[in-house]
Amino acid sequence: MILNSILKSAGQHIIGIVYPERCPLCDIPMYTGNTGSICQKCNIRVEYVGDSFCMKCGKPVSADVELCMDCSEKETSFICGRAVFVYNRCMQKSMAGFKYYGRAEYGRFYATQMFEIYADWIKNISPDALIPVPIHEDRRLKRGYNQAEIIANWLGKLTGIQVINNLIIRTKDTNPQKELSSKERGRNLYNAFDIVQESRELYQNVKCVIIVDDIYTTGSTIEECSYVLKGVHINDIYFLCTCIGKGY
Ligand SMILES: [Zn+2]
Ligand SMILES: [Zn+2]
Repeated sequence: MILNSILKSAGQHIIGIVYPERCPLCDIPMYTGNTGSICQKCNIRVEYVGDSFCMKCGKPVSADVELCMDCSEKETSFICGRAVFVYNRCMQKSMAGFKYYGRAEYGRFYATQMFEIYADWIKNISPDALIPVPIHEDRRLKRGYNQAEIIANWLGKLTGIQVINNLIIRTKDTNPQKELSSKERGRNLYNAFDIVQESRELYQNVKCVIIVDDIYTTGSTIEECSYVLKGVHINDIYFLCTCIGKGY
């Protein structure tokens, strides 16, 4: 027994040297074998949303502000949402690795952080399901995975909440939002999502959901998804994102 556990821990150590864990933010090898932790440099660089955030979208705002500028000017189909990290340079790099350079394993770290910070929030909502924001099939084939689904699947494991990844479909492969002006953004996602009716019939008891995504920028992706969900009488909609921009 003892020998077995010694061999096992030695084995893990060797695996850690051959396939070192990488820091999920800057990608440097860490050689520790620890999962879910970040390197010391990133510990300084990373910025969490913290205690003062917009009550609607979760963007960090100053302590005396209840709603950020964006949210005070528009109505939304979702109730509210939260995010873990400020989308600063450190997170931009991490997200680029996660989405464009095959670092799908970072998703576990993101979900763990979501769970550690928002376990109570999720519990209070007590959603029937987690819904990852879908990407277009062409993009999924090219990338090999949907990044939001990876985060949602890990979060589902941590919370025990079912993940439904076939309720919403992305019918338009839209341009990345960041390359567009705000006027173009408004139209870019119009009719980009649709409900898969067979899935809705399968999950007809679902009334309350948390949409899961990697980044919240303008909020139009979450809004468009919420809009189609409301169309099939899923009325209690929240969201949880890994990163978010700063609010004003
Ligand atoms: Zn790092
Ligand atoms: Zn807001």
